[in-house]
Amino acid sequence: MSNTKAYAAQSETSKLAPFSFDRREPRPDDVSIEIDYCGVCHTDIHFTQNDWGNSVFPVVPGHEIIGRVTAVGSDVTRHKVGDVVGVGCMVDSCRTCSACESGLEQYCLEGMTGTYNGEDRHDHTMTFGGYSDKVVVSERFVVKVPEKLDPAAAAPILCAGITTYSPLRHYGVKAGDKVGIIGMGGLGHMGVKFAKALGAEVTIFTRSESKVSEAKKQGADHVIISTDEKQMEDAAQSFDFMLDTVPVPHDLNPYLNALKFDGTHILVGLLQPIEPPVEAGALVGKRRVLAGSLIGGMPETQEVLDFCAEHDITCDIEMLDIQNINDAYERMKKGDVKYRFVIDMASLKNA
Ligand code: ZN
Ligand code: ZN
Repeated sequence: MSNTKAYAAQSETSKLAPFSFDRREPRPDDVSIEIDYCGVCHTDIHFTQNDWGNSVFPVVPGHEIIGRVTAVGSDVTRHKVGDVVGVGCMVDSCRTCSACESGLEQYCLEGMTGTYNGEDRHDHTMTFGGYSDKVVVSERFVVKVPEKLDPAAAAPILCAGITTYSPLRHYGVKAGDKVGIIGMGGLGHMGVKFAKALGAEVTIFTRSESKVSEAKKQGADHVIISTDEKQMEDAAQSFDFMLDTVPVPHDLNPYLNALKFDGTHILVGLLQPIEPPVEAGALVGKRRVLAGSLIGGMPETQEVLDFCAEHDITCDIEMLDIQNINDAYERMKKGDVKYRFVIDMASLKNA
């Protein structure tokens, strides 16, 4: 066992505070990683506050992990000591179902094992995430970080990045396609970068006039103010694909009407019921598709890192000492970060 420093929430009302626990010794297929950086995702806040009612405390959040390999188990072939590697949202799955066999472990029929707040399939302990100085993960769930990428700015690719990249690829977004990105947060700003890199003409939909110049700076070709009915009506039947990153219920109908026939509206942020209801006629009448997508499988998570290296894409980040994590959560709740906090885990040594 290996003593591990971390930050944890002890209950849904307590702030994150120093915590220590033991990581397991590497199993034959495990990689031990010393963590250098960990991105901060909205999911981390949801779990520390028990917003979804399934948190098991203490919670050590963090699923955008970048670090260096310090030891490998006897059967490990993909990674070696010294490699810069990443761990995203999952650390295990059944590995034998049809989804796992297709490299789509996030859709494992038995359920994937989350990087934190998940139950280990072997020893049945709860998993602890990347707000810690080290982690032990099966090699299948560890990806290589290309040398060209700044490791800190690469961290959010493991959740915010793959979440937006996977559906763009799955639905075959290509050069010349007209793509709408709804929402300009951690996910949305990555979606713009990927859609542009794939050659699409990109429009950002935002509620506020104040975000127009920022959207253009991020590379968007056009900006539509979604609260402006005239602008939304003028956009009717013009988009091939809509990437919807908004995590709270919102009216999808104006966006569906902005799709061409055969267009696809893909949800990556919303987990609640859709309110107000979707006009089925807007789907049926134009053979439009309304769909959802969850992160990406392990082969695709490696692919997105390689794609980012090839196209010089990283996340826009603000670095953070772990001692300031509770303030960072408050700022995230107000949307006050461009666009992702990343914890410099060197700060944990002083915790
Ligand atoms: Zn996340
Ligand atoms: Zn499976």
